[in-house]
Amino acid sequence: MPTPTTPPITLKLSALLTTFIHLPFHTVFQDCLDSGYPDSSGSYVPVFSFLIEHPSEGKVLFDLGVRKNAEGYPPHFNVPRVSQSRAGVSAKKDVAELLVEGGIDPKEIKHVIYSHLHWDHTGNPGPFVNADIVVGGEARSILDVQTRKPSMVVDEESNSKEEEETKTWVYPTNPLGTVLEFPRSMPVRFVDFVRKPDVEDEDEDEKTSDLDLVKQRVISPFMTFTHAVDFFDDGSLFLVDTPGHYPGHISALVRVSPSDSGSELTSTRNTLSGVYVFLGGDCCHNRQCYVPGGTREMSGKIQWDVGKARESVGRLRMLCEVCQGRRRGFPADGGGAGRQNDDTGECVCDVVVILAHEAERLEEGMPLFPQDLREWVVHRARKERVRGG
Ligand SMILES: [Zn+2]
Repeated sequence: MPTPTTPPITLKLSALLTTFIHLPFHTVFQDCLDSGYPDSSGSYVPVFSFLIEHPSEGKVLFDLGVRKNAEGYPPHFNVPRVSQSRAGVSAKKDVAELLVEGGIDPKEIKHVIYSHLHWDHTGNPGPFVNADIVVGGEARSILDVQTRKPSMVVDEESNSKEEEETKTWVYPTNPLGTVLEFPRSMPVRFVDFVRKPDVEDEDEDEKTSDLDLVKQRVISPFMTFTHAVDFFDDGSLFLVDTPGHYPGHISALVRVSPSDSGSELTSTRNTLSGVYVFLGGDCCHNRQCYVPGGTREMSGKIQWDVGKARESVGRLRMLCEVCQGRRRGFPADGGGAGRQNDDTGECVCDVVVILAHEAERLEEGMPLFPQDLREWVVHRARKERVRGG
């Protein structure tokens, strides 16, 4: 359990809009995939990045959106359609430039946390020279150069380097790679929700000797999810295991307010009381797939593991149901931090979900950087809650 802090630490949160990308409907909804919608049938959706500011631990970015002018991707990667001019948003700036305009020096960023390593989330980490990169542990399968000996019998003298197999997806190490290499000066830290038993294996040590693994405490289960990491160890930022869309996909739960002043559910013995934002990355690509009562099933088209992706969306929907008062308490296998609520059977926190491409949030007037999201989130939380409904 996170250590209760008095008063609870809350984080400043703002949303940056880098551009709009074209999303075919058959990659969003299963019914559109089943009906054979063409690639051209779709809509332009926003690409959000988020600035999280901790009062003492500094500034963090969650996702970096699309690179400036959608340029600089690996040559073998076919960049999908990007809109440069919708809604008066200048898409000709990347996150670093937007930050500078808002008075924040990219050198102040301490961590760049990626929901996953798709092109529209990785952006350009280059200007964040004092930051490390934080990714889900399964992203190793994308990043690592895995070498495999040709046979069980290792002949030290043959030194058969040519027969080693390159597995990385990273360009230019792999000329056909589709994930751009990170700046070499930026340490990469992996969030391991499950410790691997072979972590002390000699080869493993060698392979990860330059990596500082994220060692924060794993909470399992966590609300309606199987695992989370308390990133600052103070209950203000959790990285939540939401696998399926892409190897290592994670979400973030950010505490933005100690409690909704209009709420009677402010028990101090519940460490998760307050108002949180769930930054869902690409858990799904439209809110109709996660909202309670939503009727659209997420498309299986662009999922790494459809089964896991649908399970993650199901857990997100369950979280909304609990927080909105539609479901009493967290399920038995998803106790975690919510276990303390067993006597009341109610969740004492409010959660507002923002997906990386959730167009409706813009339509609802979500303020953009340099404006702060917190007041808007508290208002939204009150609106979306239907206690006892
Ligand atoms: Zn995306």
